[in-house]
Amino acid sequence: MLFPEHKFLCALSVSALCRQLEAASLHVFTAAPKTCRLKAVEAPALCPELSVWGVAMLRHMLQLQCNAQAITTIQQTGSKEKLITDSRQVRLATGLFPVISLLNHSCSPNTSVSFISTSATVRASQQIRKGQEILHCYGPHESRMGVAERHQKLKSQYFFDCNCSPCEREKQSSPKGPGREAFCCHACGALLQGGDVLSCGTASCTESVSRDHLVSRLQNLQQQVGMARKLLRNGKLEQAIQLLLRGQHDAESFLSAEHSMVGEIEDHLARAYAALGDWEKSAAHLQKSLRVVEACHGPFSIEMGHELFKLAQIFFNGFAIPEALNTIQKAEEVLLVHYGPWNDEVQELQKMKSCLLDLPSIPVGPNE
Ligand SMILES: [Zn+2]
Ligand SMILES: [Zn+2]
Repeated sequence: MLFPEHKFLCALSVSALCRQLEAASLHVFTAAPKTCRLKAVEAPALCPELSVWGVAMLRHMLQLQCNAQAITTIQQTGSKEKLITDSRQVRLATGLFPVISLLNHSCSPNTSVSFISTSATVRASQQIRKGQEILHCYGPHESRMGVAERHQKLKSQYFFDCNCSPCEREKQSSPKGPGREAFCCHACGALLQGGDVLSCGTASCTESVSRDHLVSRLQNLQQQVGMARKLLRNGKLEQAIQLLLRGQHDAESFLSAEHSMVGEIEDHLARAYAALGDWEKSAAHLQKSLRVVEACHGPFSIEMGHELFKLAQIFFNGFAIPEALNTIQKAEEVLLVHYGPWNDEVQELQKMKSCLLDLPSIPVGPNE
């Protein structure tokens, strides 16, 4: 269902557009521009030709939310002087791609879509057999949300019930990656299960705790991490590290090892140590963050590609040459699948690789 607010906004936008077009008296829209302009002065009604255009525009605008494609780009964050660049996906515009619109959705698609300017490229992200359907993710991906949330999002925007293979599998069994948002037992570390009151899964352990209590602990932790992020931005690195290490200790006592918050803390610690130039500690924390990302998003996910790219930069800056070369290769493999060879990060990796291979003292060759 389209929300009335949404319909109203679309109608308002189209009528504003029509008024603008009329004011500009674009002759493209009217065969007799003079009479049309006269009418516009006399009465508020649009000239008939423009009404036809208006109806067509409104129709297309209402269909946009199902058929349009978000055009995204990867934005590098972090300055060159900081030696470590991070990246995030940002939405640039909305576009219509007639061929991509033909692709059906899967919560675990076999393709990845990327953009260079306004050109979209669809790449196979896994082996596609002859005759097998080419599938694309409309947004709700199995690695980012559970089956109930995905269904709700797909239903409200695209009006269908998803029955792709991950959805069928998750409906029948337990959701994939139960650890990523799970709480664990304070006494023995096993996953806690239950509704309002959670109890330990280990038979010999009698721990139980209310969900509300754990949720409020998680909120406190999120607040602390938010503060640390602010300190990091302001260059107060030591203070940020102290706060993050306390947070890490706290997280270990009630969150599963694959919890997204655990990964976030490790990622921030890696960033703080990198800013201090302590590459060894930075790499150790980023490797922990990488394990969480792999458990949550899978080894060949875009998220994994970006995290591997960061690790490659850390090893590179710390002159850990074998580790750097190894990580560059892994990062390249993942990023090439999603973005192809013209991606900034892929090119940066290639530069790092040739720089390392050119070092005269490093024996690297086919016989090594
Ligand atoms: Zn699905
Ligand atoms: Zn226990």
